[in-house]
Amino acid sequence: MNAPTPRLRVAPSPTGDPHVGTAYMSLFNLAYARQQGGRFVLRIEDTDRARFRADSEQQVFDTLHWLGLTWDEGPDIGGPYAPYRQSERLDTYRPYVERLLESGDAYYCYCTPERLQEMRERQQRLKQPTGYDRLCLGQTREERAELGGFSETPVVRMRVPEDVELSFEDLIRGEVSAPFPDDQVILKADGFPTYHLAVVVDDHEMDITHVVRGEEWISSTPKHLLLYKMLGLTPPKFAHMPLLRNEDKSKISKRKNPAARLTWFQEEGYLPEALVNFLALLAYPPMQEADGTDREVFTFGEFSDRFDWSKVNPVGPIFDMKKLLWLNGVYIRELELGDFTARLLPFLEEAGVLSGNPSLGELGRLKDVAELIQTRIGTLKEAAPLVAPFFMADDELEVSDDARSSLADNAAEVLDAAIGALEQISDEGYGVLGSESDWNAGRIEADLRSVIVEGLGIKARFAFGPLRAAVSGARISPPLFESMEILGKHSTLTRLRRLRASL
Ligand code: GLU
Repeated sequence: MNAPTPRLRVAPSPTGDPHVGTAYMSLFNLAYARQQGGRFVLRIEDTDRARFRADSEQQVFDTLHWLGLTWDEGPDIGGPYAPYRQSERLDTYRPYVERLLESGDAYYCYCTPERLQEMRERQQRLKQPTGYDRLCLGQTREERAELGGFSETPVVRMRVPEDVELSFEDLIRGEVSAPFPDDQVILKADGFPTYHLAVVVDDHEMDITHVVRGEEWISSTPKHLLLYKMLGLTPPKFAHMPLLRNEDKSKISKRKNPAARLTWFQEEGYLPEALVNFLALLAYPPMQEADGTDREVFTFGEFSDRFDWSKVNPVGPIFDMKKLLWLNGVYIRELELGDFTARLLPFLEEAGVLSGNPSLGELGRLKDVAELIQTRIGTLKEAAPLVAPFFMADDELEVSDDARSSLADNAAEVLDAAIGALEQISDEGYGVLGSESDWNAGRIEADLRSVIVEGLGIKARFAFGPLRAAVSGARISPPLFESMEILGKHSTLTRLRRLRASL
């Protein structure tokens, strides 16, 4: 018999801003699905109505699309196993619950939340294992009503036998075992299945062959395998990915770490391809080159082609932001200039540097500036303060306190010399397509060096600080002479004169 086509899924719960873990899970699922010529399914697990957030599902779609982690079937595009939202599949679960009730593998539980609370407190006081005490097991509704702590609308619990199999094979970890589970609720009083029942039914109904999910679900897997067994179904294979951790080793959470939110990476100007590479590296070794060296920068295609479960590191990876910043810089530098410029636009608009609809002239200038800063930024957001001085009116440019306080005593002398030298350079032909002008970075640099470094005897290291402050308003800026070329003679001189006058 041929092996079935691999079908993998990611099953986020729409409970808020999408978690970075959703992208991480999607990436590993997708890598294997693509390698095997299988299918990748997006299923929305929205049975927890208390935590449901309406806008969250769209954010999941948007952020995964942004990362290029696209699915073959899902609530937005449909597919042969639709619907892909659990809240739309309630009729699917009921017959499974009936089967379990009929076979005695499940039973109604009428206990009120208050009774369950008291039970737990008693167990904790007596240092007993916590778990449902089976008060309702084997009781008719009438019998149970006599016992107090009775709720009119029951839940359904699965009955976990003493000899439940607690260990299972994991594609990443080998044999894994989990603690003995208690009689888990599978159908809630509101008629919604719990995660445990819904995940088993849906993975079965959707012909999922590999369940790849976070390590936090290891303890649930024996319950799921038990449900497969009780229902006479063939279980999928399981792989539990290591949990992402903060630098202090705690589990990455949206409360503690902004980087737990996928939208944060978009807002901060990380490139999706860099984030994908980074997420892969969290649990996967670098690519091995034929000559034995390691390569940390790789594409999704390469990752997927070479993907192998046995190479996934089961130890919880630290979310190393410095590494991500480095990797993002690598990807930024590799962008083709036009692409880089286009990707900067939303950040420049957000920062108020450019309007959403820049003119052709502005775009041309932006491209020139982009070329100067491409090697100097770690995120797209970092571009805004470097680009801003090129799109300001000369009299709007403020010299920062930082830049001003770094000016040496000879700043006035330096500015005077620079103004004198630059006035001599002709800008004829400047900005005219196809014509060369004396107003270019090479000539500007040569003339400034000659008057300031040679003429005034000021070391190059100290010579240009005042010019930089005048032109960009900042202590750190894109390369100075190229900046002056882009600004043009008039702006450059106006800016130098303004700072000079304020000293
Ligand atoms: N809805 C679960 C989650 O958000 C899915 C777990 C699983 O993949 O089984 O983590």
